Amino acid sequence: MKDIALPEALAGAHARLEHALHEAGRPLDAAALLAVSKTQPAARLRQAYQAGQRAFGENYLQEALDKQVALADLDDIIWHFIGPLQSNKTRAVAEHFDWVHSVDRLKIARRLSEQRPAGLAPLNICLQVNVSREDSKAGVAPEALVELARATHQLANVRLRGVMAIPAPADTLAAQRQPLAELRTCLATLQKALPDAPLDTLSMGMSSDLEAAVQEGATLVRLGTAIFGPRRQA
Ligand SMILES: *Cc1c(COP(=O)(O)O)cnc(C)c1O
Repeated sequence: MKDIALPEALAGAHARLEHALHEAGRPLDAAALLAVSKTQPAARLRQAYQAGQRAFGENYLQEALDKQVALADLDDIIWHFIGPLQSNKTRAVAEHFDWVHSVDRLKIARRLSEQRPAGLAPLNICLQVNVSREDSKAGVAPEALVELARATHQLANVRLRGVMAIPAPADTLAAQRQPLAELRTCLATLQKALPDAPLDTLSMGMSSDLEAAVQEGATLVRLGTAIFGPRRQA
């Protein structure tokens, strides 16, 4: 399969995001673009970097660490961990990432804070919320979110930045917007409950629901296939 030329694809993703922001009546810099690079080889990330991209999202720890080694000369990349996170992986994530979007229980938040190296800035954290309420899906239940956020905000070496969700796929714009609106309400609830927390991030919107997410106030959209094309076999 032929690769999409990265500079064009990235420019297209930015244009799509700006169009969505414009349509939603929001400032054109109100949402940033996270390039989700899972299964893409390091050379593709390097091309995106050369085209100006700095924030990359990875799902699989070992794959991400290998790419970080291959791209060590690009020292201003911002690495976001967005995949499922088990206890045995928190140390490496705390040591090698700037953000984690997939924190959904206090045990994981505590370990990330304890394991964050002293010389690094606090780790930015988004709490993943199960807005679609699917039993199999990761994420804290909306009802339990404030309690988890309060406890996470007490931790020394993390900064509680916001919330993230991966809603179930939906066909219509209206159906896409419903869980995203719920996530927006979750963030507003946290901002009220924890006025001194740096809660500025609504991490939502993927290649298939970017427009719905921007309409519901997304500040950080996570685009994979819209930038890199189809994923490689993991
Ligand atoms: C893979 C992934 C994305 C990107 O999905 P696309 O549909 O390729 O844009 C975004 N967020 C998370 C958590 C992902 O795992």
